[in-house]
Amino acid sequence: MDLHRPIAYIRTMTTLDLNNPPATEPALINLAGMTRGELSAVLAPHFGLDAKKTKMRTSQIWRWMYQAGVREFAEMSDISKEMREGLAERFTLARPEMVERQVSTDGTRKYLLRMGPGIEVECVFIPGVGRAGALCVSSQVGCTLNCTFCHTGTQNLVRNLTAAEIIAQVLAAKDDLDEWPSDREDRNLSNIVFMGMGEPLYNLDHVAAAIDVISDGEGISLSRRRITVSTSGVVPQMEKLGNDTSAMLAISLHATNDALRDELVPINRKYPIAELLEACRNYPGASNARRVTFEYVMLKGVNDTDEEARELVRLLKGIPAKINLIPFNPWPGSPYECSSWGRIEAFADIVNRAGYASPIRTPRGRDIFAACGQLKSESVKKRASDIRREAAIS
Ligand code: SAH
Ligand code: SF4
Repeated sequence: MDLHRPIAYIRTMTTLDLNNPPATEPALINLAGMTRGELSAVLAPHFGLDAKKTKMRTSQIWRWMYQAGVREFAEMSDISKEMREGLAERFTLARPEMVERQVSTDGTRKYLLRMGPGIEVECVFIPGVGRAGALCVSSQVGCTLNCTFCHTGTQNLVRNLTAAEIIAQVLAAKDDLDEWPSDREDRNLSNIVFMGMGEPLYNLDHVAAAIDVISDGEGISLSRRRITVSTSGVVPQMEKLGNDTSAMLAISLHATNDALRDELVPINRKYPIAELLEACRNYPGASNARRVTFEYVMLKGVNDTDEEARELVRLLKGIPAKINLIPFNPWPGSPYECSSWGRIEAFADIVNRAGYASPIRTPRGRDIFAACGQLKSESVKKRASDIRREAAIS
């Protein structure tokens, strides 16, 4: 389990004295992104702290990291100079490298973050969504599932992200949006959605640990009710998601019959619609005040008839639900087209008349390729270039 493995950064020397070659310095351990338990576990032995002092120091540093958002130990003004220097010798508060930052004409911001060599993920800030604005985070690099309409699905999984790497996306976005301290009144970042790259329920332990940190009231302090986890339908993990995180649930439904869903969302062959909806009925904490969101991507001539809108209403009967109609976001080589605006409205009308809120999600950040399902990291391009290079050599 790599949950407790801190990200290490190597210090680089700027000068080299050939007469006195430098002793190899130990890697700095990154505290930013750690859980309380991880933080205590590294601080106690380093400073020789007893249990009481460990708890006290952990809370203190926790607040500086997640409440104030400092990136230098020197800024921790209520900690002695000696201890701050001790911290800086062994630890860091570094953020992942921001390889690219794009701002859309509609204010959407897309970040490409490098977690390590070849490990790049995208996350997207969307203003005006949720209470103030939502950050869409990735849970994996790529995805093992192959939903036919999703760009991320065309990228082979590189790996699960650690909890620290998920939290690092939030820290990087807060830095960029100037969202510190976390308890400021005019927050722009109010919601988190796990709708970036990857299937969060295939990485649930790390996602749950990240949600614990993000929702902690002495830190980033985003309410669990404003954190939504979207799944393609990993039925056996859904109850655990509810029990462990109290997060809001979103389901990528996209079809109203198994034959079509088998094709669009292939995990349906394992967990068909009836089983998926049963798990939604039993989702811990679901109620009229905490509805399950059903995402439905509008694909021209594939899943967008009036009949399917009526079938959708019938299927969701008895589930506290809201329906999110997503205009399909095309990507190069994608095999579908987006339904016409009129068709989407007609579909929405049927769903609305049945009493469901069904906002049509306005495509955001299309100009910078930041919309749903368009996320795909550079690692694939790299792999493709590696393949070309290998082919050229052999
Ligand atoms: N793997 C999870 C979460 C990430 S996908 C899931 O599938 O739920 C986030 C949302 O974007 C899902 O509802 C997904 O179906 C949708 N999506 C994927 N590709 C899309 C595209 N090209 N256009 C519109 N929505 C898309
Ligand atoms: Fe993976 Fe979700 Fe894309 Fe399907 S829609 S391929 S589960 S990221």
